[in-house]
Amino acid sequence: MNTNQHELPLCSFVSSVVKGSLAVASRCVSDEQRDIFKDHINPTRMITSDQLVYTPAGSEKRAVVLDIDNTLTPPRRPLQQEMADTLKRLKVPFFLGAGGDLRLVSEQFIEPLHEFGYRGTFDAFLCNGPTRYHCDLSRGISVTLVRHFAMKEHMGAEKFERMMKIVQATLDREEFRLPPPMRVIGDLIIDRESMVNVAPIGRPRERLGDEAHRNRDAFREFDARTGYRRRFLAHLTRELAEFAPDGLFISLGGETSFDLVIRGNDKGYPLKTLLEEGFERVWYIGDALFAGGNDEAVLKYIEQWKGPQPCPVGAVQVENFRATIGALQKLDMVHLPAE
Ligand SMILES: [Mg+2]
Repeated sequence: MNTNQHELPLCSFVSSVVKGSLAVASRCVSDEQRDIFKDHINPTRMITSDQLVYTPAGSEKRAVVLDIDNTLTPPRRPLQQEMADTLKRLKVPFFLGAGGDLRLVSEQFIEPLHEFGYRGTFDAFLCNGPTRYHCDLSRGISVTLVRHFAMKEHMGAEKFERMMKIVQATLDREEFRLPPPMRVIGDLIIDRESMVNVAPIGRPRERLGDEAHRNRDAFREFDARTGYRRRFLAHLTRELAEFAPDGLFISLGGETSFDLVIRGNDKGYPLKTLLEEGFERVWYIGDALFAGGNDEAVLKYIEQWKGPQPCPVGAVQVENFRATIGALQKLDMVHLPAE
């Protein structure tokens, strides 16, 4: 875990950069461009370069990759009409770069999107990025697996099982037991094949009911008050250090859980893939672009970019789905509604 990672303000733009070049780079952003971004940039914290300079027109082939939870939808709630309508009016192809698996994403995003009348196609990079599906909503809902990645095959079965035992032992520690009224509802460890999700309050297998939502609310309040997840994350990172050479890293997942992911087969994967497939500028929009957040791999991808040109990926931190709509509009990616 890179503890030097910058904590980002809500709604900020980040780009590839060489640390220390901020002063020079900032001068590359014109006043007009600052106006465009003024609600989204905190100049005192912004890391930028001329990479960030926004050109609304031209032939540049652009795409946007969107996180789902709290970026396209309210937290753990289904897609709302307002966002579905925005997606229908996008000028650029959109892709999903999400932590959930197909079941979760279908329930939270794909099915409501179809119900709201979206008729088109998009690709979804799920389970934190490396598992790719093609989704065709033009006639009913058709989802085809394009690429699969299995963590167990990558690490080897024996190591994978050892890792899972360490996770269970961590959950069993007295210091990580959750006091009432919180209780475990559903599975604590969820193997999504390309990643493992660890949820100390459990993850229900069915759609979240009122009780599960109350349980999540209680956990969020407890976590904010006691720093539970930060402590858990630090402990688990130490315990799993032996797997770092396999590329394992651990981040906060959503609001109540942790993600165990293999570096490169994370949210950086869709960015790399889309650039290889010919997109010239790719924007990522997410609500957890901070150290330990489940969008952090995007920042790492940008930071570690080694090309002759600056990294053509921009990352946008948002606080909720309405901020995402605002960001898409400011990036000139949305057609105006028909009169
Ligand atoms: Mg999110």
